[in-house]
Amino acid sequence: MTSAKTRTLLVISAHAGDFVWRAGGAIALAADRGERAKVVCLSFGERGESAKAWRAGRTLDEIKAIRREEAQNAAATLGAEIEFFDAGDYPLVESPELVDRLVRVYRELEPDVVLTHPPADPYNGDHPAAARMALQARVLAQAAGYDAPGEPLGAPPVFFFEPHQPEQCDFKPDVLLDITPAFDRKRKAMECLPAQQHMWDYYTDLAKRRGVQLRRNAGPNLGLPHYTMGEAYMRLYPQVTDVLA
Ligand SMILES: [Zn+2]
Repeated sequence: MTSAKTRTLLVISAHAGDFVWRAGGAIALAADRGERAKVVCLSFGERGESAKAWRAGRTLDEIKAIRREEAQNAAATLGAEIEFFDAGDYPLVESPELVDRLVRVYRELEPDVVLTHPPADPYNGDHPAAARMALQARVLAQAAGYDAPGEPLGAPPVFFFEPHQPEQCDFKPDVLLDITPAFDRKRKAMECLPAQQHMWDYYTDLAKRRGVQLRRNAGPNLGLPHYTMGEAYMRLYPQVTDVLA
């Protein structure tokens, strides 16, 4: 008797905090459903997203250790595994070796869903670099002749999570995910990242706004107060369905 494979979510994040602010709700919801959720952090965000630690006089190695521990705590809070590639940030340099490592992750995990950064971000070159490598690795993992262990990958849908300045990144939500039941854990995961404390309330407020928009798109808009928290995503590939809904 064969049992159905556990559904798996793969999140590819340039820096240690990105997956928390932008996809923490989706990760916690997947874990709640008993799915396997895995985060690959290409770097710790040690140079570009750790200003507080630099100003406190920490060394590069200390900052990497701090950010690693914070991200591990955040991932555990959300119910996800986490793997660090320690590829460096500012800049995160794209390489065939990093793409190959990602191919191996795809082949091993056989994800049902992939989350990563959108491919444009004029404020942060590491985010598009992570997205390009995530997408290239997905395509290579699909190739029967690509030399990596495992079977060729299927076609897991790719969702881009919301960047910090969505308009400048050509980000227009076409999926609004209701993360209300998971928001408390997302907030706790955010609070595992004191290096970026200024983001906690910002991403709480964003979840409220996306929650209001979610309800506006979900049914009768009576203008009554409600508590709904949301995360916004964009799909890269068409939705495949036999029923329009
Ligand atoms: Zn980042």
